[in-house]
Amino acid sequence: MTERILLVEDEEDLRMTLSDRLKAEGYALETAVDGEDGLRKAVEEAYDLIILDVMLPKKNGFDVCRDIRKAGIVTPIVMLTARGQLVDKVLGLKIGADDYLTKPFEVLELLARIEAHIRRGATSAKDAEVLQFGPIRIDLKGTTVFRNSKAVPLSAREFRLLRYFAQNPGTTLSREVLLKEVWGYSEDTFTRTVDVHVGSLRQKLEKDPKQPAMIITVPGLGYKFVLNAVL
Ligand code: CA
Repeated sequence: MTERILLVEDEEDLRMTLSDRLKAEGYALETAVDGEDGLRKAVEEAYDLIILDVMLPKKNGFDVCRDIRKAGIVTPIVMLTARGQLVDKVLGLKIGADDYLTKPFEVLELLARIEAHIRRGATSAKDAEVLQFGPIRIDLKGTTVFRNSKAVPLSAREFRLLRYFAQNPGTTLSREVLLKEVWGYSEDTFTRTVDVHVGSLRQKLEKDPKQPAMIITVPGLGYKFVLNAVL
């Protein structure tokens, strides 16, 4: 799978140079030209890494970083600071940035940092304890679910159903399969139970429960958990 990077940088030359280079390295790239645009993209879509300049129009990089973390998004963030902004580095790490690079930097140095952070992310995803889907964060170990950093109270069954969906994204799951995997039943007599619980999850997690974007109905077949659903 191609790793996705969000680059938030207002200097056009640097944005172009980095975009071209990162694309050439095989990353899928999205760019933003100011802080507000960057924050919106970071919250609405899932990325493997975010490169965030500090000095940005509309909203500075520190505020963007803080708001990304406030939204419960745990994607690694590499901040780009200007030479001599030592205080800024400390502040950046304090508000949830994972790394920083001082301008001007060698592109190779940035590539090495990106690779290290993405690899670290991928390693932890294998025995993932936290799954993040836009504003929804599922803490598997703590069995807690957050929407925009606010805890969403779920029953144990709802949690297990959501966890099963989230661990099988993009797959059409029949009611029978869900009953078997989540409830442990093998008969197909209680399929309505699945509908009730899916309805309840939608009420709690979807932006518009009547027009679900995350857990969608596949007519005649069952349900599908959509990755990168904009919620
Ligand atoms: Ca800048």
